[in-house]
Amino acid sequence: MSPSAPAIETTIAGSLPKPSWLAKPQTLWAPWLLSGEQLVEGKRDAVRAALKMQETCGIDIVGDGEQSRTHFVHGFLQGIEGVDFSRMKRIGIRADRYEADCPTVTGPVRRPRPVHAEDVRFARANTTRKLKFTLPGPMTMVDTIADEHYRDRAKLAFALAELLNAEAKELEALGADVIQFDEPAFNVFLDEVREWGISALERAAQGLKCVTAVHICYGYGIKANVEWKKTLGGQWRQYESTFPLLAKSKIGQVSLECANSHVPIELIGLLKGKDVLVGAIDVASDVIESPEQVAATLRTALNHVAPEHLYGCTNCGMAPMARPIAEAKLRALAAGARIIRNELAGK
Ligand code: ZN
Repeated sequence: MSPSAPAIETTIAGSLPKPSWLAKPQTLWAPWLLSGEQLVEGKRDAVRAALKMQETCGIDIVGDGEQSRTHFVHGFLQGIEGVDFSRMKRIGIRADRYEADCPTVTGPVRRPRPVHAEDVRFARANTTRKLKFTLPGPMTMVDTIADEHYRDRAKLAFALAELLNAEAKELEALGADVIQFDEPAFNVFLDEVREWGISALERAAQGLKCVTAVHICYGYGIKANVEWKKTLGGQWRQYESTFPLLAKSKIGQVSLECANSHVPIELIGLLKGKDVLVGAIDVASDVIESPEQVAATLRTALNHVAPEHLYGCTNCGMAPMARPIAEAKLRALAAGARIIRNELAGK
């Protein structure tokens, strides 16, 4: 390969399945099966296994697979004052697409101490590859919480964005190469994205010198999301209103859903100048992509994004999937990206 050939690096959206001895498999918000010291040790072992799995599969930019969190939003919120986890409330989230038990905001939110510092420190010590760490985005947090204090979604979002920013700066200092904010809610509340969602996201990422990313998808591969997608019609154009705003923002990378979706691929052309993390792995299907299928998805994306800005990724987190299937899919992702890398290098 010539040294100037584009890398077409691969990465994951965020979560990976947890080992069956740590949490109930194929379940979102699965409670821990260990406690006390055993849980601390178990989480660390799971992070080591997740990193090793990604490395073995050939993933370039690795993460901790969110092995230490029950859920990508509530993991961070568990470290926040003003959020009461003893007052769980069943609410409709993502515009009532499905219901979830969510903690209640009962007072001003405050981050008394770092939440994920130990997670990043541990992951950093256990891999030499580029490390990505995921945090929930402010809008998605607001949408996954029962608020009895701010009673104003934008106000709460900015309060949370400030906390996220302080956290992100610490994680960057501990060696995270990429900080990604997960904003699946961006595909649901299109007007709010324009009114305050992007600004809140930029507030969360303000002043970061590491690579910044946002992940916007059509959700985990769970039944409620699969049913919802059926109602979205033949063309999913949600990205059309959000991408031009993101193109003007300071966020460096956008991770999006592409494989087996009805997203018109040309919409990624709206992300001019940004790195595009193209979802080439369907997390809502147990059918394992072939490397050639992954390559085909990335090849199509190359019609709309420059090779130096193209990354291969998963559509969304893999938390609810079976572990061996997730592993096989990651292997296909890396192999598919390698095909494109070789093509671009003229091999
Ligand atoms: Zn997602």
